[in-house]
Amino acid sequence: MSTRAALTTEQRRAELAANLARVRARIVAACGAAGRRRGEITLIAVTKTFPASDVIALAALGVRDVGENRDQEAAVKAAEVAEAVQEDVRWHFVGRLQRNKCRSVVRYAAMVHSVDRAPVADALAAAAAGRPQPLDVLIQVSLDGDPKRGGMAIPGVAELADRIAQRPSLRLRGVMAVAPLGSDPDVAYQQLRQAVSKLRRDHPEATVVSAGMSGDLEAAIRHGATHVRVGSALLGSRPPLG
Ligand SMILES: *Cc1c(COP(=O)(O)O)cnc(C)c1O
Repeated sequence: MSTRAALTTEQRRAELAANLARVRARIVAACGAAGRRRGEITLIAVTKTFPASDVIALAALGVRDVGENRDQEAAVKAAEVAEAVQEDVRWHFVGRLQRNKCRSVVRYAAMVHSVDRAPVADALAAAAAGRPQPLDVLIQVSLDGDPKRGGMAIPGVAELADRIAQRPSLRLRGVMAVAPLGSDPDVAYQQLRQAVSKLRRDHPEATVVSAGMSGDLEAAIRHGATHVRVGSALLGSRPPLG
């Protein structure tokens, strides 16, 4: 933190620009290798633990999609950024969602990636009922079946999808997953791809696949990711427990 705080605004901006160029080049290369078009991939900058000034700098560099995993931090940051930036910044909520946070999250989030159980889907639907547009949501799929890490296990995805699709205030857009720690990301994302193709038989509108982070975005793009969520490769390393 101390070295980061010592950077001037201009130095930080240059650092973010260089990191962004590297991440964009990785996405281009991964698309090339997978025979996909760059336009199929949305880069989400995951800015948790980093200040609003970094979001503002990234917005000036053309980043329009920003991800956060804790409501309290995200709500404050979104308000700060909205005051400072003319461009539309789309906030993606990617963290574990508690029912009592849904009212707050629907105020700033354009997309919620982490719907993983019926009570959260219901609370989010109720909270989103007053919005002019339905809220875009993804089902977080568990690829290791460990409930502590969040996500619905694959056998439960179809029922949760039907439940979301019945709520007019929600729009089911697809799925999100995190590759299990220590797993082969190619195996994990291949599993996700199969779950998605099954889901699309009943929900053809579920076209979003949010997968891939700083360490494994190439594997995710190989297996059909449409949204990659990149934190440390863009912003630097976070303090522990960030
Ligand atoms: C923090 C976080 C990311 C970004 O992780 P990096 O490894 O820093 O790129 C992506 N997705 C979720 C859900 C996160 O919490």
